[in-house]
Amino acid sequence: MKIDTVSYSSLKDFEKCAHYYKIGYVDHIKLFDSTIETIFGKLIHKCCQNILKAGQEKNGMEYFEKAWDKFSRLYKKYISTKQADYLKDSGLNILENVKSSIEKSFGKIKYEVFSTEEKIEMMALENHTQRIKGFIDIVFKTEANEYEISDFKTCNSIYLWKKYLNKETERQLVLYKNYFSRKHDIKLKDIIISFILLEKNPKSKNPVQIVQVTSGKKKIGNHLSYLNNRLTILDNINFFPKNRLNCSMYNGCVLDGTVFCKKQNHFS
Ligand code: SF4
Repeated sequence: MKIDTVSYSSLKDFEKCAHYYKIGYVDHIKLFDSTIETIFGKLIHKCCQNILKAGQEKNGMEYFEKAWDKFSRLYKKYISTKQADYLKDSGLNILENVKSSIEKSFGKIKYEVFSTEEKIEMMALENHTQRIKGFIDIVFKTEANEYEISDFKTCNSIYLWKKYLNKETERQLVLYKNYFSRKHDIKLKDIIISFILLEKNPKSKNPVQIVQVTSGKKKIGNHLSYLNNRLTILDNINFFPKNRLNCSMYNGCVLDGTVFCKKQNHFS
């Protein structure tokens, strides 16, 4: 068994439960874990990217409204009118504010959108054979030739999201910074990283906030050590233990009680 590609999300899945990782990335069984919330998140991220690229809030909002209405009609069995309307109003509130919030965060500095959904794919580390793959949501470039790599995160409460921000969440951007620097041959000191938080609350007066994350050489080194450690484990792994502590945490595990992970096999 050879794992030849890793991504931030596959590593996250490995942390959650090695058996879950095996089903998705070794056995290649497609896990259908889309929910109304993840579909909303994907659509809103796409619309934010388009608004920031083209600068046209009106078109972005119209596109979102049409797409969301169509989705809600098609899946009316699974989504109540109340939930669909709440998310639609939340989405429109976010899209109305995204451009001005980004402009405010740059202040007087002139900037442009350098790329959206930028693909990163290269050797993960010199001493390993695996490649790393990922997509950066959006990269801004300033007039001073500095870059800001950002990832959109949709959340129910910006306050709580910030409160529980931890190094695992930061890892995605820290690693992207490292690989973006290598890809474009840009000095690390010229790259900053940030999360663009999008709050699902139609009444929020400030539904888009930018949270910059520190990412000096020491922090990058720590995350690369983590990566080295996980790649070494994946190089030598033969047994993928189940982590039953994660079966029902957060939103639960989609494999719980399925043929891929039956409840009676709790300790197998
Ligand atoms: S149900 Fe639990 S043990 Fe099974 S894959 Fe999911 S987290 Fe792992």
